Amino acid sequence: MTSSRKKSDVTRTCLGCRSRKEQKEMIRIVMGPDAEAVFDIDGRLPGRGAYVCPLPSCLRKLTSASLSHFLRGRVSIPEFDSLRSRLADACEGKVRNLLSIGLKAGQVGIGSRAVEDGLSRNRAFVLVLASDASPRTSRHLLRLAGGLPVRRLAGKERLGSWLGRHSVASAAVFDRGLARRLAAVLDRLASIENNSYHVN
Ligand SMILES: [Zn+2]
Repeated sequence: MTSSRKKSDVTRTCLGCRSRKEQKEMIRIVMGPDAEAVFDIDGRLPGRGAYVCPLPSCLRKLTSASLSHFLRGRVSIPEFDSLRSRLADACEGKVRNLLSIGLKAGQVGIGSRAVEDGLSRNRAFVLVLASDASPRTSRHLLRLAGGLPVRRLAGKERLGSWLGRHSVASAAVFDRGLARRLAAVLDRLASIENNSYHVN
């Protein structure tokens, strides 16, 4: 994956806090067809892009004026709350998308049995554990996970909705690339929602 390695070296200036950070940690914004700001979670939409940290404090500092100047066109942005929920929705859409691709390809295991199996055979690259999973399940799976990246962002129902199920307490990703992409989007989502949830 030469392109992703190269991407990690690139730094960008946040339009909110003005600090320079690695591009992969930031959110790209482009001008949409109706001159509205569009969050480009994959960083693949055409056109000039502006960057912002996935933090409420940086989103709050975004103005139509600075964005318009940077994107060289008149761009309108909604007020902070709807801007923030729009970004969270974009991240959540990406999470659903990655998980559904993974499910179809057999790269995602759902539920304690599949997850346990994946973890014990060292097949898993990330463990997603519901924040309200029972303490016993959590302890057990975290012990099996060892030093594996773990994300605990959503409750069982929300995690279930991402996976097209009613309620899911745990899921594991068995593909390295998919796991990395999923963890990155979940990190942005958590950061936007101001959650602290990192286990590893
Ligand atoms: Zn910033």
